Amino acid sequence: MDFTFTREEELFRESVREFLSKKLSPLWESIDERSLIPTDLIRDMGSQGFFAIPVPEEYGGQGGSFTLAAIAAEEVGYHDPSMATAVYTLLNNSWPYVLYLYGSEEAKGEILPLVGSGRGFFGIASTEPQGGSDVAGLRVSASLEGGVYRVYGEKIYISGVREALEQLDNGGWLLLARTGRVEDKHRGLTAFAFAAKRGGSIVEGLEYSILNTIGRHGISTGILNLKGAPIEPKYVVGGEGRGFYVAMEGFNLARILVAAANIGSARWALEEAVKWSRERVLFERPIASFQGVSFPLAELAVELEATKLLVYKAAWTADRIYVRKEPGVKPRDLAFYAAASKMKAVETSFKIYETAMKTFGALSYTKEGRLGRGFLGILSYMAGAEGAQNIMKYIVAGELIGREHVR
Ligand SMILES: Cc1cc2nc3c(=O)[nH]c(=O)nc-3n(C[C@H](O)[C@H](O)[C@H](O)COP(=O)(O)OP(=O)(O)OC[C@H]3O[C@@H](n4cnc5c(N)ncnc54)[C@H](O)[C@@H]3O)c2cc1C
Repeated sequence: MDFTFTREEELFRESVREFLSKKLSPLWESIDERSLIPTDLIRDMGSQGFFAIPVPEEYGGQGGSFTLAAIAAEEVGYHDPSMATAVYTLLNNSWPYVLYLYGSEEAKGEILPLVGSGRGFFGIASTEPQGGSDVAGLRVSASLEGGVYRVYGEKIYISGVREALEQLDNGGWLLLARTGRVEDKHRGLTAFAFAAKRGGSIVEGLEYSILNTIGRHGISTGILNLKGAPIEPKYVVGGEGRGFYVAMEGFNLARILVAAANIGSARWALEEAVKWSRERVLFERPIASFQGVSFPLAELAVELEATKLLVYKAAWTADRIYVRKEPGVKPRDLAFYAAASKMKAVETSFKIYETAMKTFGALSYTKEGRLGRGFLGILSYMAGAEGAQNIMKYIVAGELIGREHVR
């Protein structure tokens, strides 16, 4: 047992904090207000090694680990509590790694260096209008026509549509589509590295629109209408019919970073509430002197610490599997920790924001109070982003009781 980060990890956190406190902290409110992460900032973050952290250097990544990626996601969440920049960061660490694991050499060579350097976006396109939780029931279809897959159907609530298709010159998603029969359910799905925009041009057969979300405005959420968009077979990730398994492995990795970003944002909110409890004087003393104010903060500090341990245990487990490749630890062993981290981190963050806003009182209900921007950011994960909370409970219950007993 050793509850310390390595020297390399500590140094990484220090350098990330130094960069973010100068480059991101002064901008985060305007990122939310203007609904835009500046392109220069994305580029700068790419140069500083914020993206594709676990991807080996020879593929354009940083040759790091999931622990380092979690540190980056946590710190970005802290320095942009609205979560926009954190979402950009966590997507562009987890999904490029899945491409690295299962993509063709050509697809990896084309996409990963662009993402790693901040010149390209690579997220996940799974959800459809009939319901995101039932991945095995998705309907977007892809079939070979003259040696090229043509994709038809609609993807909705997809993060990064504007960033991928308008802001940057290159962007796309790991897209899940049905290549088999509907009756084949999850076995009929294939994952594609869908490079929707390349060198400034958007692929034919793709229309898109941006949704009007209530928070985390700095990163867009949109709709992809696929009207025969072509995807060459070299962009199949993991083989035809293996898409469900590829995506589930990716969701495990993404959920660890989602959890890390949430605890970063929540740490910021808790610190704000603690400061305010010292400064706000009522009845001739700071409100921190009232146990009705200090006890909830104390309880949440404990919850945050416990959640942080869980999240970093998940990242450490991912490193045992993917980075250190320890014998006897398999991707399947990650499911419990990844789902538990996302479930717990989102609940903890929600409670921290609720209490922080009560601690601030009416000021928290104004934009100047700033907490509202963070609250609406973490709320995206309560509403469903990267998997509904109930689905996390199914995964944990399945690992606890046995998948065959939990449906
Ligand atoms: C801001 C934001 C960004 C997103 N970005 C992306 C993205 O980049 N890519 C992407 O693919 N998707 C994205 N999503 C979509 C996200 O993956 C879905 O919200 C999620 O999968 C849930 O799907 P749904 O919203 O359609 O809810 P539904 O699946 O319709 O579920 C509705 C409710 O039913 C509950 N429920 C469903 N099934 C069960 C069950 N068996 N037992 C008990 N309860 C159940 C759920 O918990 C939920 O409360 C994003 C969502 C948001 C809010």
